[in-house]
Amino acid sequence: MQTNLAPKFQSGNSAAAIETILRKCVHCGFCNATCPTYQLRGDELDGPRGRIYQMKQFFEGEPANREILKHLDRCLTCRACETTCPSGVKYSHLLEIGKHAIEEELPRPGWDRLRRAGIVWFINSGWLFALSIRMGQLFKPLLPGKLGEAVPARQQPLARSAGQHARKMLMLAGCVQPALAPNTNSKAVNLLDRCGIEVIEISQNLCCGAAAMHTSNAALGLTQVKRLIDAWWPHIEAGAEAIIVTATGCGVSVQDFGRLLADDPDYADKAARVSELYRDLVEVVEAELEAAQPATAARRVAVHTPCTMQHGLGLNGRVERLLEKHGYTLCRVSDAHLCCGSAGTYSMLQPALAAELRQNKQRALGGDRPDLIATANIGCQVHLMQGSPVPVVHWIELL
Ligand code: SF4
Ligand code: SF4
Repeated sequence: MQTNLAPKFQSGNSAAAIETILRKCVHCGFCNATCPTYQLRGDELDGPRGRIYQMKQFFEGEPANREILKHLDRCLTCRACETTCPSGVKYSHLLEIGKHAIEEELPRPGWDRLRRAGIVWFINSGWLFALSIRMGQLFKPLLPGKLGEAVPARQQPLARSAGQHARKMLMLAGCVQPALAPNTNSKAVNLLDRCGIEVIEISQNLCCGAAAMHTSNAALGLTQVKRLIDAWWPHIEAGAEAIIVTATGCGVSVQDFGRLLADDPDYADKAARVSELYRDLVEVVEAELEAAQPATAARRVAVHTPCTMQHGLGLNGRVERLLEKHGYTLCRVSDAHLCCGSAGTYSMLQPALAAELRQNKQRALGGDRPDLIATANIGCQVHLMQGSPVPVVHWIELL
C-alpha cells in the first residue's frame, strides 16, 4: 500500500516500522478469512485489513477518534492474520504502535483507565489474587452461576522433587498460575528432575509484563520486564541453560523481551540473552523424552493450541505430536486456528465477544467426543473450563 505519513509520524522510533508494515500490506483481505472477530461481526472494520486501513488513515493525519479505538480494542491480538498473510505483514507490531499513538492523542476516559489498572493490579497482586481464588473455591457452591464457573476446582498440591543436578534451567512461576493451577509447574519440575535437570523457580511475585501491556500500560509492563530480568540474571550468569515458561501467553512475552528493550542501553543485551534462552516447555520436554518408548494411555484428547503457541511462537502441532507419541488418541478439532476468546485480559474487557468465541471453541473441541481437553496456557485453560462438560488440563499433566 502506498503511504503518506503525517509529518508528526515521519520521525521517532516507530516511523520506519509504521512505514514498512503499512507498505507491505497489499490489501488482499486473505487475513479476514481467519480473523475471529471478522467472522463473528462480519464487519470490515473488525477485521485485520480494515484495522490496518483505519490505522493507516490515522498515521496519515486523520485525527484520533473513539471509533478507531473501539475496533482496535475488539482485536484479540491472536495473530491468526499474521499466520495467514502472504506478504508477511507484522500486524501485531503495527497494532501496538497504533493503539499507543491513538491513546496519546486521545486519552481513554477515566473509568476505562481505572478498570484497566484495576485488572492489572489484581492479577499482579499475588496474595490478594490467591486469597480470592481460595475463597472462591471454598464458597464455590454459593457463588452465582457464571462467577462460580469461573473459579477452578482446587488442585491437591503435588510434592515437588528437590533434586540437585549440574544441568539447571530457570522457570517462570507466573502471576495467576500458582493460584489457579499450581500443579502445572510442579509436574514440569518433577518430570525434568527425572531427566536430570534442576529447575530454579524464583518465588517472588514477578510478572512478564504481558497483562500491563495488554491494558495499554507499556511503562509498567517494561518496569516488570526489567525486574524479572534482574531476578534471573545472577542465575543466567551462573550457567542456567534455558528459561522455561509453561504458559504460552507469558512465553510469547518473554520471547519478545529482546525487541522490547532493544533501545535500552542498560538492558538491551540482557534482554536479548533472556529471549535467546527462552524455551517453551514442550520444546524442552520433547527433546528430553526423545528416546522414551511410546506408551499406551488409551485416552482420547482434544488439543487446544493457544494462539500464542501457534501464531506467536510457531509451535503448532508440537503438543499433539508429544501426546500421540505417549499413547493418546488425538480427537479431530475443527477451526483449530481460531482463538478461544481468553486472549490475556480480553475476556475481562470484551466479555460478550469472549463468551461467544468460547462457546464456538468448546463445540469444536467436543465434537469428536474427547475424554479430556489439553491446552498450554493458563488463560485458555481457565476460560475453556467454564461450562465445559469435559475436563480441561495443561498437557504436562498427561505425561
Ligand atoms: S495484512 Fe496481509 S493478508 Fe491482510 S490484507 Fe494486508 S497483505 Fe493481505
Ligand atoms: S490479531 Fe486476531 S482478532 Fe486481531 S485482526 Fe488479527 S486475526 Fe483478527
